[in-house]
Amino acid sequence: LELPIHEAVLGRAAEYGELPALVDGVDGTTLTYAQLDRFHRRWAAGFAEAGVRKGDVLALHSPNTITFPIAFYGATRAGATVTTVHPLATVDEFARQLRDADARWIVTLSPLLETARAAAERAGGIREIIVCDRAPGHRSQIDMLSTTAPEPEVAIDPVRDIAVLPYSSGTTGTPKGVMLTHRSIATNLAQLEPLVPANPGDRLLAVLPFFHIYGLTTLMNGPLRKGATVVVLPRFDLETFLAAIEKHRITRLCVAPPIVLALAKQPVVDGYDLSSLEHILCAAAPLDAALATSCSRRLGLPPIGQGYGMTELSPASHAVPLGALNPPPGTVGKLAAGTEMRILSLDDPGKDLGVGEVGEIAIRGPQVMKGYLGRPEATDALIDPEGWLRTGDVGHVDADGWLFVVDRVKELIKYKGYQVAPAELEALLLTHPRIADAAVIGVLDDDHNEIPHAFVVRGQHADDLSAEEVMSYVAERVAPYKRVRGVTFIDAVPRAASGKILRRELRARA
Ligand code: ATP
Ligand code: MG
Repeated sequence: LELPIHEAVLGRAAEYGELPALVDGVDGTTLTYAQLDRFHRRWAAGFAEAGVRKGDVLALHSPNTITFPIAFYGATRAGATVTTVHPLATVDEFARQLRDADARWIVTLSPLLETARAAAERAGGIREIIVCDRAPGHRSQIDMLSTTAPEPEVAIDPVRDIAVLPYSSGTTGTPKGVMLTHRSIATNLAQLEPLVPANPGDRLLAVLPFFHIYGLTTLMNGPLRKGATVVVLPRFDLETFLAAIEKHRITRLCVAPPIVLALAKQPVVDGYDLSSLEHILCAAAPLDAALATSCSRRLGLPPIGQGYGMTELSPASHAVPLGALNPPPGTVGKLAAGTEMRILSLDDPGKDLGVGEVGEIAIRGPQVMKGYLGRPEATDALIDPEGWLRTGDVGHVDADGWLFVVDRVKELIKYKGYQVAPAELEALLLTHPRIADAAVIGVLDDDHNEIPHAFVVRGQHADDLSAEEVMSYVAERVAPYKRVRGVTFIDAVPRAASGKILRRELRARA
């Protein structure tokens, strides 16, 4: 697809006219497709009037709102590269991203303005801060919409020009700026469309944060392209989320494993009418098959379909096609069109493995990023000269091409020469009725052997759950080398906004 992303996604918006495109899940404000089309074009004109030029980096610093996609596509139409910023970033984190991305513009909301101002001052180089709602002395949404400036005519080269510069989650280190061209994003949405189609009448709940590439796909993939409705929630709060599904008769959900966990285990779920749901897609972190099954059974839904990817893949290489007959439990899906995969030996990365053998997943395809911004060595370490990207994830594939992800290479615990995947132990711990949540890391014992150590959140009425009970529960169910050999009880498992367990925070605690 050789189109700029605003054309690829909103090319038919005007035709959908009065159909609802975006709904604020809290106050019900609705934007029609005609408005989305007109408004993002006015924002593009407003950006050009403010001085935004092709290639300028614009930082979009906002929780999920219905204005987010208007600012986002307005900016790309004006030729800018959008770098999305965590709305709760500290001044330090924000300033680091502004500097790293060499940003010129910030779009924010008034409650976040103080942070944005401080970050801009620290980073330098920011020409203007635009405030979506309103703040004295700043251009606002009303100014953007009421400008009489002409819509800019910017020649975008989809193959070369960077549309989005998202930062990776920072699970394994410092977040890296990922250069995604218009073509890599537009190609990926076309690749995923047959896998996860959407149609007018579908209502999708956007609860994952737009600043992360997975949440952003709810604005870039099927829904807005196909005339469906996106209901927007600013953050995940279980009861607000359940109430929104009931009230807006949501048909589609894109979630991460912690939400599946809540849907499977929390008693409050029974109090809501979730019968409108037709399909749940889950990605971003390992999802255990048993947990997925208990969630979909409880809700009376077909199996949860997983997707697999990373920011560097625009963001996906695999998904379970909607309506696939009997996908094997736990699979993350099949390879997207035009994409190739290899499974590389963990001991000898030059060696390809076959069906059923466990190794590192490598991907080649048009959705692979152009590179990390300003980090040529990191880019070369990830992508070889033939275009193969080493994902750092461990997996295996079956004879029908279904991929299974085990965990990250770096997270594998090496116990006396054996390899233990924390994700497998976490999934097992979650099957314990008195465990609400769990995370596992490798720690060194007195003899400097790496051993699996569990962090456990006790469930309701489980105050007396003991470390011995937890360890023997695991010991009865796994091979001896996989046993959990230490337990710490905690109040909550630390997770990134994208749902990933922050094991490095646990490591610091251990
Ligand atoms: P960083 O690269 O900064 O350390 P990150 O890798 O967590 O952070 P993302 O790009 O958001 O940043 O996440 C990609 C990773 O998410 C993949 O490499 C993989 O480990 C994990 N992932 C995505 N989908 C799945 C899935 N369906 N099952 C298991 N893991 C998944
Ligand atoms: Mg990564």
